[in-house]
Amino acid sequence: MVGGIGGAAHHHGTQTDSVVELEVVTGAGEVLTCSRDSDKDLFDAVLGGLGQCGVITRATLRLIPAQARARRWKLYYDSLPAFLADQRAVVRDGRFDYVEGQLIPVDDGWQYMLEAVAYYTPPAAPDEDALLGALDFGESEDEDTTYFDFLNRMADGEAALRAEGSWFHPHPWLNVFLPDDTVEHFVAETLAATGEPELGATGLLLLYPVRNDRLKTPLFSVPPGEFSWLFCPLRAGSPDDPLHNARLLELNVDLYRKARDLGGKAYPTNALPMSTEDWRAHFGPAWPKLAEAKARYAPGNLLNPGQRLRSP
Ligand SMILES: Cc1cc2nc3c(=O)[nH]c(=O)nc-3n(C[C@H](O)[C@H](O)[C@H](O)COP(=O)(O)OP(=O)(O)OC[C@H]3O[C@@H](n4cnc5c(N)ncnc54)[C@H](O)[C@@H]3O)c2cc1C
Repeated sequence: MVGGIGGAAHHHGTQTDSVVELEVVTGAGEVLTCSRDSDKDLFDAVLGGLGQCGVITRATLRLIPAQARARRWKLYYDSLPAFLADQRAVVRDGRFDYVEGQLIPVDDGWQYMLEAVAYYTPPAAPDEDALLGALDFGESEDEDTTYFDFLNRMADGEAALRAEGSWFHPHPWLNVFLPDDTVEHFVAETLAATGEPELGATGLLLLYPVRNDRLKTPLFSVPPGEFSWLFCPLRAGSPDDPLHNARLLELNVDLYRKARDLGGKAYPTNALPMSTEDWRAHFGPAWPKLAEAKARYAPGNLLNPGQRLRSP
């Protein structure tokens, strides 16, 4: 629908890249099964197509065998350039199964944390020296869990946020892809202007690269180059201060426009008003095919008009 990206994208691309076949109910009410070999125009227009051409009612995805365990390291950096350089290195050589970067506010500024995970099945075991040896981090922590417990690591946090209520507060999140040659300056500038009022007490900032050569979904728009950096100010708004939440939305619009003007792209699951012109620019060369598919499978901008992805 939007793509599906995470810490294993440097190996497997987006979730949409693993889709083999879809059953779709089109805007014209047809129930069609499509894939790369049949009705490819519909298949390509639905994957990452924001529900504009049809509703997915069944999806068949490629799977790989799961390992039994996960060794997870949290590597801490005080230097943004070192943090970025190590992420490029480990995403390029693929030594870890899962890689995700986070920017953490600390008293005197920011700390950078690289979450790096190796999956394995005993008696095999990860070679820590080979994996961490050349990396330039300071402090580190590690844990060893079952593969499932690693995948399910958010469950306790979600339960806690639900219990204390902030899970239900406004979450004006922004997700953008930045070109590799802009990331250091863009992030440093953004961090210099970001404090608790801009992020919220339970807000998060994620930053990690994906390899563009792994991304195959035609509608999944990223900047050109070897890497695209996913930068996500996952802001937490307040339940009873609409003016503050409106300001957070303005911050999203400003940041998106800055990223866009540097060649960046939205990851389209955002608290961000986008005009038809914005979408046209976002999809770029893929727009005509999407507009054609909308006209064929969901004429009259029938589906999901709220996102203003209007085609003529
Ligand atoms: C706590 C949390 C963590 C998250 N972590 C990640 C993450 O790690 N990686 C990531 O990529 N995203 C992440 N997201 C974002 C999330 O993946 C997206 O918001 C996703 O779109 C949510 O799916 P949904 O079914 O709720 O779709 P909605 O948000 O309801 O819809 C999203 C888009 O998909 C379209 N759509 C929805 N259902 C269908 C359908 N059946 N057929 C066709 N189109 C449809 C809608 O029209 C819309 O355009 C996270 C979100 C949350 C709340």
